[in-house]
Amino acid sequence: MKTTFLTVKKKSIFAVLLCVLLAGGFCATYFGVMASTTPKPVHTIVIDAGHGGIDGGAEGKTTGVAESDLNLAYAKTLKGLCEDFGIGVVMTRKNENGLYSPTASNKKKSEMEKRKQIIEDSNADLVVSVHMNSFKLSSCSGAQVYYASGNEQGKILAQNVQTSLHNSFKNAKKLPSVGDFFVLNCTSKPGILVEFGFLSNPQEEINLQNKNYMKSMCFSVLGGILEFFK
Ligand SMILES: [Zn+2]
Repeated sequence: MKTTFLTVKKKSIFAVLLCVLLAGGFCATYFGVMASTTPKPVHTIVIDAGHGGIDGGAEGKTTGVAESDLNLAYAKTLKGLCEDFGIGVVMTRKNENGLYSPTASNKKKSEMEKRKQIIEDSNADLVVSVHMNSFKLSSCSGAQVYYASGNEQGKILAQNVQTSLHNSFKNAKKLPSVGDFFVLNCTSKPGILVEFGFLSNPQEEINLQNKNYMKSMCFSVLGGILEFFK
């Protein structure tokens, strides 16, 4: 009776051990494969930091900040947040240099061609161009989102992003506007140009350079993009 019990017990222990080893092996193989393969993002977007190089864009009169530098900082912040949410990102401009060829006689034309080429080669679902506004009246403030006339998907994307910004920033406009911008017109992809705020407004110029404000604004833009992808 005792022998039989032990035999049964040994057999049971052996069976359990075998299961553990097999399961362990399976897990190691499974997670090994998982770890070595980065999943392809379901969605990819182009983030376009406006201006760059000799073209600094608008300038903040209080702090002297160049729009091109601020655009790049916002583009990089938005990129980081998008990637945290599993969205693939293609950047047009990755540093302070302009996108034009150094030897080009017409730098503006060269830069525009390069932006268009990156967007075309990207296989991205949509384009977000990052800019800062400026106006002769210093009282003007607030984020404004633009889309290309006739681009229906661009309009929906712009509505989602504008609403998301307006929900978090009371001075952000309520509705997006049609904008005649090369970066939106050069592609049939849904595209938006986001003017995050006015560098001509002294208080907004300072706010826009605050890291928490920047992250919060970019998070709002991401919220609109995620809504669009739903
Ligand atoms: Zn600009």
